[in-house]
Amino acid sequence: QEDQFKNVISHAKEYGYIFQSSEIYDGLSAVYDYGQNGAELKKNIREYWWKSMVQMHENIVGIDAAIFMHPTTWKASGHVDAFNDPLIDNKDSKKRFRADVLIEDYAEKLNQKAQKEIEKARARFGDAFNEQEFITTNARTKEYLEKKDAILQRMARSLESENLADVKALIEELEIADPDTGSKNWTEVRQFNLMFGTKLGAEAANAMDLYLRPETAQGIFVNFLNVQKTGRMKIPFGIAQTGKAFRNEIVARQFIFRMREFEQMEMQFFVKPGEEMKYYEYWKETRLKWHLSLGLGRENYRFHDHEKLAHYANAAADIEFNFPFGFKELEGIHSRTDFDLKAHEQHSGKKLQYFDTEENANYTPYVVETSVGLDRMFLSVFATSLKEETLEDGSTRTVLSLPSVLAPTKAAVLPLVKKDGLPDVARQIIDDLKWDFNVAYDEKDAVGRRYRRQDALGTPFCITVDHQTLEDQTVTIRHRDTMKQDRVAIVDLRGIINEEVSV
Ligand code: ATP
Repeated sequence: QEDQFKNVISHAKEYGYIFQSSEIYDGLSAVYDYGQNGAELKKNIREYWWKSMVQMHENIVGIDAAIFMHPTTWKASGHVDAFNDPLIDNKDSKKRFRADVLIEDYAEKLNQKAQKEIEKARARFGDAFNEQEFITTNARTKEYLEKKDAILQRMARSLESENLADVKALIEELEIADPDTGSKNWTEVRQFNLMFGTKLGAEAANAMDLYLRPETAQGIFVNFLNVQKTGRMKIPFGIAQTGKAFRNEIVARQFIFRMREFEQMEMQFFVKPGEEMKYYEYWKETRLKWHLSLGLGRENYRFHDHEKLAHYANAAADIEFNFPFGFKELEGIHSRTDFDLKAHEQHSGKKLQYFDTEENANYTPYVVETSVGLDRMFLSVFATSLKEETLEDGSTRTVLSLPSVLAPTKAAVLPLVKKDGLPDVARQIIDDLKWDFNVAYDEKDAVGRRYRRQDALGTPFCITVDHQTLEDQTVTIRHRDTMKQDRVAIVDLRGIINEEVSV
């Protein structure tokens, strides 16, 4: 697993997907830059999300709010007082950790042990296997799962009541060690606020203290009435937005999974009070379906219903993904009640209510939110698509089998040789296709090596121009995943590619 993750990181660099930020100065921890291919993949994921959320829903519109917001926003939202992570240091290694993540990792190990037992039994009993029955009757598996639940529940309770001493006690009881040194010598647990502060204004004396937004959601809440009125929106309706968010994360590992500057894709759905659970269930299912539509495999996703609810929520679930380092949160679906709108009403003194013409009454809507990290989406797609395949002849190839709709380059056009006018024909094909797709030209090296390079880049099609092309206006088109080649007419290329790469 660790090796696979290392491969993902080095492949991302080697093929122009992700670079460390300011690398020539030895980088900045948990900050990354997207390269020429990464920027395209990221844009395509963002567009795929936007299309399904905004374009496909008559009652959802999109906005683009500023990163800077009036500082009272964060007082109202609760971020100034409660946007904290529990921090713990290891006294021997002097390394810093998030206490809840240490405990979650421990619980996940128990879960993995249970899953191993389940898989062994499944292999043994075949079709007759009943997972639920096995879990209740197999003492060892049952113990793993019960212990896992007990640990997570105790942590949730302790954090909720701010009983940080008990969080530390739990780490000690479980004998959790620094994963690198094995040391179990921990400090007390403290709370650490994750917001980045900055200043607006030239003179230090009267400069205004600002925060870089730690989530995009608040830009939607403060614009709720602007959008509702100018767009004549009727409840239920949604406001979507994508954009940068910033968090001074304590643990800076796991590549682009946890960054200090990252991008979110969020949608707040405003509903009539009392109807929130219906829409909460609806959005849970709808968002899972969206993920599944990418074809990365049902087994890689699972729901995790929250035991510990944030201060604003009355129900919350994560869609977790099987990352190279195990199942972790990819997206959150939260029923946020009227917490945010009411809080902004209080702090601003402005009414943020909706007039329901059918009810002939004013009320503060409830909100169901879907919030997914664009960079985490990127990692889920990229890591799962990267494969090392052994071919029939025993040789191996590296292929990045990205969903075609997301691939940075849809087709590479390759003249078989650099002479006899073949490059000119290849250029003509590109000039025609580039209006609709990102297409690349490559004439360097033998054609087999060029295929391999495009496989590793994730390009779904290679189009090869050869001498026969000059006679009959046909080319070969090679499919990345099957490596199958077909002879087709140049005029049919657009249709063939379009069929594969459109939603
Ligand atoms: P975690 O528990 O992993 O810190 P969170 O519960 O704080 O995440 P939310 O506040 O619900 O996350 O944010 C919504 C989404 O934004 C997450 O599901 C995740 O995809 C993304 N996200 C949050 N923090 C980061 C980060 N530091 N780097 C990249 N993506 C992030």
